[in-house]
Amino acid sequence: MTKIFAYSIRKDEEPYLKEWAKSHPEVEVDYTADLLTPDTAAKAAGADGVVVYQQLDYTPETLNALADQGITKMSLRNVGVDNIDMATAKARGFEITNVPVYSPNAIAEHAAIQTARILRQTKVLDAKIAAGDLRWAPTIGREVRDQTIGVVGTGHIGQVYMQIMEGFGAKVIAYDVFHDPKLEAAGYYVDSLDDIYRQADVISLHVPALESTIKMINDETIAKMKDDAVLVNVSRGALVDTDAVIRALDSGKLFGFVMDTYENEVGIFNEDWRGKEFPDARLKDLIDRPNVLVTPHTAFYTTHAVRNMVVLAFDNNLALVNGEQPASPVEVK
Ligand code: NAD
Repeated sequence: MTKIFAYSIRKDEEPYLKEWAKSHPEVEVDYTADLLTPDTAAKAAGADGVVVYQQLDYTPETLNALADQGITKMSLRNVGVDNIDMATAKARGFEITNVPVYSPNAIAEHAAIQTARILRQTKVLDAKIAAGDLRWAPTIGREVRDQTIGVVGTGHIGQVYMQIMEGFGAKVIAYDVFHDPKLEAAGYYVDSLDDIYRQADVISLHVPALESTIKMINDETIAKMKDDAVLVNVSRGALVDTDAVIRALDSGKLFGFVMDTYENEVGIFNEDWRGKEFPDARLKDLIDRPNVLVTPHTAFYTTHAVRNMVVLAFDNNLALVNGEQPASPVEVK
């Protein structure tokens, strides 16, 4: 009987794993909450493939420990593959898959909700109300429909964000190095990033971290923005020079900042810091600001997305095990 073993399964993933196992009675499915390490690799003994998801590196030792047991079919439940030692994976003949698109709506909705919250100053209002101050002024909102929304990156997530913001009645403009023909025909694209910076009231980043995009938001680009602009980054922390953003928040140039990603987030986000010393004073300062909305990389974290990550990874792994073409293979090079 075919056997698939899954690592680091969280409580919220269990129902979807069980759902997949039920609909595939021909496959024996087993799992652990443990991460995949050289020590835990033996847990998968006898499996034909493994399903994995972790920020921890897939080191040569880890991959060798799997391959030594004859397991070389590995399916990630997430997108990123930069923590895999590809040289070892290639040398040991690994076949790898990932889940590149699991729910663009999860991330786009989060960005849209946070954008609207910044514009309506809900963090300020919530704090006032909790303290017993129920006066309106000076906490006045800005309507989304009055904003020009500048979207940088019109891929899977950027496009859904555009639709949601249009649903609010906003004017949407976009910039991308690749022009989607449908969006092009509809006239969304401006010619340059400078056009976005100059025209947009809200700038939302939906590009990957590449040489061309790292620290694209810096003192110089912020200076080109309109006064009282809102910056939204639910993509990658590295896109933003955080110190430059803090300077712009201090000077009042930026009206607000939405961040779901942070350049130093690994080891800080998704940890419980209650009762412990918080390790990053700059991040603490951002969290405490009334016009900054920090979330710990939770934009993706919805039932819809988590289900897709589990189900699509298992589908991929079964395809690998059966010698079929998986939906989303990763190039091992
Ligand atoms: P995608 O590949 O579908 O779209 C990215 C777009 O960026 C493409 O259209 C591409 O042409 C464009 N692009 C690339 N380089 C560019 C440049 N220099 N200038 C302008 N445009 C450029 O990706 P996606 O699925 O929409 O994801 C977008 C971002 O969201 C990624 O950074 C991803 O890491 C991030 N993300 C965040 C979360 C979260 O939970 N916060 C979850 C998933 C993805």
